[in-house]
Amino acid sequence: MKKRVLAYGRLSEDQLAQLAREFEVQTFSDLTSADDPAFRAALPGAHGLIGSSLAITPELLDSAPDLEVIASISVGVDNYPIDELTRRGILLCNTPDVLTETTADTGFALIMATARRVVELAEWVKRGDWQASIGPEHFGSDVHGKTLGMVGFGRIGAAVARRGALGFGMKVLYSNASPKPALEAELGAERRELAELLAEADIVCVTVPLTDETEHLIGEHEFALMKSTAIFVNISRGKVVHEAALIEALEMGRIRAAGLDVFEQEPLSPESPLPHMRHVVALPHIGSATFETRTAMAQRAVDNISLALKGQRPISLVNDAAWRPS
Ligand code: NAP
Repeated sequence: MKKRVLAYGRLSEDQLAQLAREFEVQTFSDLTSADDPAFRAALPGAHGLIGSSLAITPELLDSAPDLEVIASISVGVDNYPIDELTRRGILLCNTPDVLTETTADTGFALIMATARRVVELAEWVKRGDWQASIGPEHFGSDVHGKTLGMVGFGRIGAAVARRGALGFGMKVLYSNASPKPALEAELGAERRELAELLAEADIVCVTVPLTDETEHLIGEHEFALMKSTAIFVNISRGKVVHEAALIEALEMGRIRAAGLDVFEQEPLSPESPLPHMRHVVALPHIGSATFETRTAMAQRAVDNISLALKGQRPISLVNDAAWRPS
């Protein structure tokens, strides 16, 4: 009997056909909540889940006693109870590497847009306000030659830093759980304690994963350490930043600008002042959102689930401890 896969992420017809050749596939398009009755009803007897943006709880896992693998179409795994999955012997797979460069592009787009006030001034032109030569009130700040402080220096952090160091002649500082000697040699990057980095950097870019340790890593104290001219960019997860503290830092002029792809609550609440602030560029979590990369991510997830359900080691396994070679 074919194993059963519940697909709630965006997969192409070819990718669904690939899965359907080996497994019984039930699709749930546009699933926004794990409480969806049809999804709930399908959980008993499901061997694999493939999708993203759905918070998986231990209670949901109780409804899926046959579950062997979850293939997330994301690199971030903050939506999953990893220890609980491991305890139950359920494999968790993600999609690292294939989205690194695209997400770094988004990070650099936010750096450029905030420093050079691209969105704000494009809107100004669109409104017909460009009536005379621009003056200092429209000037931005340079990106090239400045100091880039990377909070998190993994795959995406390194890719943003590479753009800065090699493309824009930036000095790179980083704060990271472990030292990265190879990147120091490649990019001339220097490791700093977080507080030192925040005080020295012209542009601070956050790329740590969201974990118990990194939740609200950047708050009032950290914003107070930054230069008043600092630009703050977050492309990791909203909850790494204490958003109320960020709003206050912007309102009080403690930092100059912020480029944000992620928020504590997504979609961003209409009540949030952030998108209305002149020095904020707010994006709807588009880090990896290109046709090429979303296709590659979905394909990685399809390959991961397919290998796992055939008893083979998936390409990107998050919880090695759950792996039992057959
Ligand atoms: P990664 O390669 O695992 O890099 C994460 C880095 O953060 C690692 O170097 C890690 O240190 C470091 N780190 C972890 N915990 C830390 C802590 N408590 N303090 C300091 N450093 C810490 O992951 P990645 O592929 O670059 O992705 C990073 C995150 O970006 C993802 O988890 C996801 O949340 C986010 N993301 C967002 C988007 C988007 O659409 N905006 C897209 C993709 C990813 P070690 O090297 O020592 O382990």
